Amino acid sequence: MDRRRFLGVGTGVTAGLAGFGLASGVSRADAPRIRRHVTLGNTGLRVSDISFGSSRSSDPRLVRHAAARGITCFDTAESYRGGRAEEAIGEALRGERDRYVITSKHKAWGGETRRQMMAALEGSLRRLRTDYVDIYFNHAVNDVRRLQNPEWAEFMERAIRDGKIRFRGMSGHGGALVECVDYALDHDLADVILVAHNFAQDASFYEKLRARLHYVALQPELGRAIERASSKGVGVIAMKTLMGARINDMRPYESGGATFSQAAFRWVLSNPHVDGLVVSMTSTADIDEYVAASGSGPIGAADMRLLARYAALQGPRYCRHACNACEESCPAGVEISEVLRTRMYDVDYRDPVLARADYAALGAGARACLACDGAPCLGACPNGIPISAFTRDAAIRLG
Ligand code: SF4
Ligand code: SF4
Repeated sequence: MDRRRFLGVGTGVTAGLAGFGLASGVSRADAPRIRRHVTLGNTGLRVSDISFGSSRSSDPRLVRHAAARGITCFDTAESYRGGRAEEAIGEALRGERDRYVITSKHKAWGGETRRQMMAALEGSLRRLRTDYVDIYFNHAVNDVRRLQNPEWAEFMERAIRDGKIRFRGMSGHGGALVECVDYALDHDLADVILVAHNFAQDASFYEKLRARLHYVALQPELGRAIERASSKGVGVIAMKTLMGARINDMRPYESGGATFSQAAFRWVLSNPHVDGLVVSMTSTADIDEYVAASGSGPIGAADMRLLARYAALQGPRYCRHACNACEESCPAGVEISEVLRTRMYDVDYRDPVLARADYAALGAGARACLACDGAPCLGACPNGIPISAFTRDAAIRLG
């Protein structure tokens, strides 16, 4: 039994693919397929519970494969692959635009004008070959000043009035994530939030494993912010669900038809305040593995065992999204969590293109670490991450 066939077993999926013109040569009666659709908060948008993330790919064939497997939501950004990710989605979904939910993003900075924001949106629409996006996110917000810029709210209002955007969004995965989500909710700036959320951030996950693991869960406020968004009718989409995504490290431990990534997805989707998730898809095998978790029910004991093993293996080197506990330790002002995120893209995702692009966007990055003895940040991470070793490594490999 080949791997792809194995991954489809146990899903109960026997129906043939619906009549997608996009299915190309990937249709097969026993192929895994999306089995659950969700509504994003009060938007009324219905999407597959697992959506296609394009930060690491720009191949229209992958987009078609995902559509053939029943994925109906495609997430992208102007910055992904220098715009080529948007182009791939535009090319693959051409002629069938209205069957899909397409989201894109722009990093609107604090001093940016609405004219600049509109120009960015129009660039995305051109690359996507469409005249509207369903959700437009202010991308990777980690500073409330980006949301406080009145131009952002006015731009969104204008773009909605012009029919270029259907709903407003905010995405984030940095240390100030909770503060930014709270600000967006307080000021009614988002219909949907896209936030880093995985088992490594959850206090209750570690509570259950206290006897075996000694890591500290650092983001008790993130769960509260997500619940608050959901209770206000704001759609919640999770990303960074794989805690560093070193999924191949887990292959020897997977058994019984479930994989680590499927367990991690079930953990996220078991949260009643999370509507769905987005995950980067880089191969047809990825897509088939991920889609097989759609609608597969709540997290089980075998899943928890896999997640616990992953946490034990990766915990001491995984910088938690939405954590900034070490922020004050660096006298040079190095954005430690941001630097470690870009290093994760290179080391764990094995995606140097994404890593270099995001590292360059940090400005000085970790340059100061190369001339520092590391004493100030020594022991500043409650999870035991050797901060100076990792930041110096980031400066060398990405600087
Ligand atoms: S290095 Fe440790 S303390 Fe600093 S942001 Fe990452 S997980 Fe949090
Ligand atoms: S090594 Fe020095 S410069 Fe780098 S984060 Fe630590 S304290 Fe800051």
